[in-house]
Amino acid sequence: MRRVFQIAAAVCSALAAEPPLVIQNAQVLTVTKGSFRGSVVIRNGKIAEAGEKTLVPLGAHVIDAGGQYLMPGIVDCHSHIAADSINEGSVSVSSMVSIEDVLDPEDIAIYRALAGGVTTANILHGSANAIGGQCVVIKLRWGKDARGLLFAGAKPGLKLALGENPKRQGYAPAQGRSPRYPATRMGVEDVIRQAFAEAKAYRQAWREYQDKVARGENAIPPRRDLRLEPLVEVLEGKRLVHAHCYRADEILMLLRLAEEIGFRVKTLQHVLEGYKVAKEIAAHGAGASTFSDWWAYKVEAYDAIPYNAALMLRKGVLVSLNSDSAELMRRLNTEAAKTLKYGGLTEEEALSLITINPARQLEIDDRVGSIEPGKDADLVLFDKHPLSSYAKVQKVFIDGELYFDRDRDLSARPEREQRRKALVEREREAEKKQPSRTRDRDTERPQ
Ligand SMILES: [Zn+2]
Repeated sequence: MRRVFQIAAAVCSALAAEPPLVIQNAQVLTVTKGSFRGSVVIRNGKIAEAGEKTLVPLGAHVIDAGGQYLMPGIVDCHSHIAADSINEGSVSVSSMVSIEDVLDPEDIAIYRALAGGVTTANILHGSANAIGGQCVVIKLRWGKDARGLLFAGAKPGLKLALGENPKRQGYAPAQGRSPRYPATRMGVEDVIRQAFAEAKAYRQAWREYQDKVARGENAIPPRRDLRLEPLVEVLEGKRLVHAHCYRADEILMLLRLAEEIGFRVKTLQHVLEGYKVAKEIAAHGAGASTFSDWWAYKVEAYDAIPYNAALMLRKGVLVSLNSDSAELMRRLNTEAAKTLKYGGLTEEEALSLITINPARQLEIDDRVGSIEPGKDADLVLFDKHPLSSYAKVQKVFIDGELYFDRDRDLSARPEREQRRKALVEREREAEKKQPSRTRDRDTERPQ
């Protein structure tokens, strides 16, 4: 009897689940397992099957993608979209603040990045301080609330920063105030070393307390320190370090410092002189999350070259290309394509820079970054090969759900424009009837 109930429950849940989705006749670029013309079957938000010949399950919704290209959703390892504020720059160590707590799900940059094929992004604290705040990985589920954006299960991060930004190059202190420490690259190193020394002592104090409790002693717990707790998580491998850097000398300094302290730098961000010390980066096991061809926008970025990504990759570094910009984020496929010209990467290697490699850097490669059965159905359909500058995103799926549809977007525009005009007109009419309305509202704003 129990068995009958179990079967009935399974049938009911199967009926309640979304019907399977099949994307047919596409050129499928899996990134990790080559490419083929065939289909991808999606069930319950996951890739169930991918191959040249797959059966269409009963009741499936079928999309004919003949002549189009299907690739994994793009992963951006460095972004600041969907964040209300990013720099708690008033102190040199701001590890107690968290981007996750100020996510803004209404930031239009989410939708625009989605329209460029990005499905996952690492939202970082800024680089104003040697140890910045906590970072969070999101999926670009446009329309969901802040909680709905979170990439459940992704490890949190911590931002570190070296060079001109944390030493406040060019920032004059307010009148009567002394400059914030540190003011040199030496000082940045000291701030990081000092903070982790405190974190180790803090961890030790808690361990001693827990030992006393285990022995049945009536012990007083140490005072909680929200600034040091994320650093302890780094020491214990529970939080990933993403470090903003440019110059070869400071990259080596940080790698040595991390080894001395006892943690691994998960990614070096920007890392424009990484090509000079690629062997050392690979030996440490750090990833490099760089730009394709941005340089000379500040003194410490003068030695950058567009071959950086390819040279580091050839030396065994796990490399990704990031945006660090809401605008660039919309065309990371073009950024990846540049590595075919600068460094001669293969098409698959180029695509890996914006898919599986950043997924590995964020330790979410068991979920996203390639088209393989069992992974999340985060997929992008392009009308042409994504490494062509003429390619346009047609559809974007996250967890098997359609979050961007170019046709739907284009057809909804006239109605949106009508609504916008109507709202502006209504506001104008209200202003005519009550001219002081706008002025009053401005002065009522909380200070
Ligand atoms: Zn940034």
